[in-house]
Amino acid sequence: MALSKNMLNTRALLAHKTIIDDSSCPRCNNIAEDRDHLFITCPAASEMWSTIGMPTISFDQDDLWTHNRHTMLHPDICSFAMTTIMWRIWDARDSLIFRQQNTPCNLIITRIIEDLAL
Ligand SMILES: [Zn+2]
Repeated sequence: MALSKNMLNTRALLAHKTIIDDSSCPRCNNIAEDRDHLFITCPAASEMWSTIGMPTISFDQDDLWTHNRHTMLHPDICSFAMTTIMWRIWDARDSLIFRQQNTPCNLIITRIIEDLAL
């Protein structure tokens, strides 16, 4: 999986490959957008994790990528839920980059809930 191998085409990776010049995060413009920033440390991502009751301060980032964090859940359910959450963070980031649409935290969470209710 691109996420666990840190191969996702973040702006930092695209800049490293000299495909783009600016690696800064499109959501906060504070720092290079690498995988950990995009999904965990960016204020936009951090707000989302905190709102759903999983503050990022408690994250072991390596465990997040391998879905080992929530041992109370069945591994398949945990993997599906974490993948859905991260997909929606990525989707919100793409909406901003490609459609100039800001996706508020509450809308990201609504979409996650809808996805998980399938
Ligand atoms: Zn950011």
